[in-house]
Amino acid sequence: MVRYKSRSLRRVFVKTASKINLHYRKRKPNKQKCPECGKVLKGMVRVRATKLKEVAKSKKVPSRKFANLCSQCSRKKLIERARSLKW
Ligand SMILES: [Zn+2]
Repeated sequence: MVRYKSRSLRRVFVKTASKINLHYRKRKPNKQKCPECGKVLKGMVRVRATKLKEVAKSKKVPSRKFANLCSQCSRKKLIERARSLKW
């Protein structure tokens, strides 16, 4: 099977003691984005779903509220929530 010739896999040159070998590896997924404004989220690791279990939780998601949003959107949301509180 010649499926490794596909460009959907990335090519990595790996140095060994005697020569340089060509290895084929899977590409990284796209960076995660904020669902409200579409900005790239910071502090989120960029690995495939099967590798996520090997990564520490602190590297996967920020430890604040509304971690799926960017910091600006989460700040807006927090203010919105606080203002709409019924006393
Ligand atoms: Zn946002």
